[in-house]
Amino acid sequence: MDIINIIVAAVKTINISTVLDIAVVSYIFYKAYMLIKETRGEQLLKGILLIILLIPISSILHLTMLNWILQRTITIGVLSIIIIFQPEIRRVLEHLGRSAFNDFHVFEDKEKMDEVITQILNAVFNLSETRTGALIVLEQRTKLEDIMKTGTKIDADVSSALLENIFVVNTPLHDGATIIRNNRIAASGCFLPLSSNYDISKKLGTRHRAGIGISENSDSLVIIVSEETGAVSLAINGKLTRNYTKDKLKDILLRIILIRFSKKDSFKEKVKMWKRKIIGKY
Ligand code: ATP
Ligand code: MG
Repeated sequence: MDIINIIVAAVKTINISTVLDIAVVSYIFYKAYMLIKETRGEQLLKGILLIILLIPISSILHLTMLNWILQRTITIGVLSIIIIFQPEIRRVLEHLGRSAFNDFHVFEDKEKMDEVITQILNAVFNLSETRTGALIVLEQRTKLEDIMKTGTKIDADVSSALLENIFVVNTPLHDGATIIRNNRIAASGCFLPLSSNYDISKKLGTRHRAGIGISENSDSLVIIVSEETGAVSLAINGKLTRNYTKDKLKDILLRIILIRFSKKDSFKEKVKMWKRKIIGKY
């Protein structure tokens, strides 16, 4: 009877705030886990959970020395985590910011998007054929103003001819990355942050590391053409996939962009639905 009374008492204390509290915390934990899933953060998280689990066990079993070491590890660990995982923490915070202020600038005009992507891909695969190195960043919601300042402002219509021209070796703008924003070639010769991920193949040089680096620090889509092999790669969210054909790359780019679009559409739809419910018209 006692247990039942305790449960009943506990249930009675539940109110809207409790439910909201649990929902918000669960959502944050779920989002945080999805963001670090399959990154080096996942291994670290498992390590931390193991230590947290071992501390009470070592205490119960009176393993004083182990307990002392584990306690110290946790204390020093928190500081080290912030330093080591600065890029990931930044990514999580930026992601939160993007979700909260969900405005979309990249391809404002859906009709033009197909044409722009076609121009970019024509350039990319012509450059690939002639084994000319290239690094093209499609800006999304994370603004790359700082990065653009490291290069030369262009602000021109996207055309395959211009893109190919930019990457011709021994010309002033070929070094570094070209940024595409709002259907325009915004800047060229930009310096990107290099990825410090140790798992990247040693065969990949700085062009690929720079492409992966900016994709770790933003939600941009990065296309890389290798000068050495002509291979075309795509970096998203810190992950590089290689050896694309033109059709495959077009398919995946359009799909990613359309999913992001449709998320926005569905949010708009939802707002309309709420309005309909609340106000009863529309
Ligand atoms: P590739 O397969 O084309 O040889 P790679 O990954 O081996 O590519 P590197 O050979 O080191 O890379 O390519 C060097 C070029 O990468 C530089 O000339 C420059 O254009 C570009 N690059 C290097 N670092 C950066 C950076 N931080 N930001 C933008 N571009 C960079
Ligand atoms: Mg190289």
